[in-house]
Amino acid sequence: MYDRYGRKIEYLRLSVTPRCNLNCFYCRPETCPDGESEQSALPLLSAAECGRIVRAAALAGVRKVRLTGGEPLLRPDLAEIIRLIRQIPEITDLSMTTNGHGLAKQALFLKQAGLDRVNLSLDSLRAERFRLITGGGLLDEAFAAIDACLEVGLTPLKLNTVLVRGVNDDEIGALIELTRSRPIAVRFIELMPMNPLSRNNDNLVTGAEILAAFPALQRIPASDPAAPSEDYQLPGYAGSVGLIRPISHRFCSSCNRIRITADGMLKPCLGDAGEISLLAALADFNEQTLNETIKQAIFNKPAGHSFNPGFSPARSMNRTGG
Ligand code: SAM
Repeated sequence: MYDRYGRKIEYLRLSVTPRCNLNCFYCRPETCPDGESEQSALPLLSAAECGRIVRAAALAGVRKVRLTGGEPLLRPDLAEIIRLIRQIPEITDLSMTTNGHGLAKQALFLKQAGLDRVNLSLDSLRAERFRLITGGGLLDEAFAAIDACLEVGLTPLKLNTVLVRGVNDDEIGALIELTRSRPIAVRFIELMPMNPLSRNNDNLVTGAEILAAFPALQRIPASDPAAPSEDYQLPGYAGSVGLIRPISHRFCSSCNRIRITADGMLKPCLGDAGEISLLAALADFNEQTLNETIKQAIFNKPAGHSFNPGFSPARSMNRTGG
């Protein structure tokens, strides 16, 4: 369906848990450094509730679903959630954003449950730096996940890198090199102001800087016109490079997304504090109310995010779902 600004909303990001096994410094909650107390206090949507929400959202026009978190792989019933969503005929694209730790073992199982593809977070190609950025992550796990996704067909595979000045911006070239022989998309995401570290504008590396440093990148047509990334390629390379520029190039006018948190709140915009509870409709088993609540939230989606230097999110990224 269309919102009041004429945007066609057909993409749902569904967070299945606020818990994460990593602790990326630009993402972690500001109130609890380990994120643990905040993460464990919340009652989560059940797999069945996730299915009911997506079914109601599909009736409101949603066609694409991305599972996120926190870390979705921590959800023991993840395959069940995938199976329930896969049964909804209107949903034509079901993907997951993950740090990939433990994915290699589960990739085939999740593919067979109905997962189409994966976006994997990869902020460095250097093991020690990767560990520091992610608060304990293992680069080998990320690469095992990349290989497994390509092997079982969780594709097209996209790698997401959040660039932070002075931290990993010297690896842009090496990350682009991953696309030389692999049919993957490496996407550079501008740092969004989600916690004090990421709120420092000096840390932002813009898409324009990447284009200036790598002038051989050639613009290619977007695989999905509603996707937030601008796509580029180095001539002769198998994969592509995406720039996601929420800060320097707002894409709010073409935003087609809503988000649902793992505790059942609908967030029409990542960069806006507004959220609408779906809990009463879920508790009453009232599918019509659920559908109406989602439709109303879509219609009233804010015109644009308010990421500015003073922005302070009501929820940390892990509790919203990235
Ligand atoms: N645990 C999963 C993962 O690591 O991909 C999914 C959740 S994570 C919150 C989803 C995405 O949000 C990741 O690609 C992460 O890099 C991105 N993200 C988190 N904080 C961000 C920030 N301050 N600015 C830009 N992207 C951010």
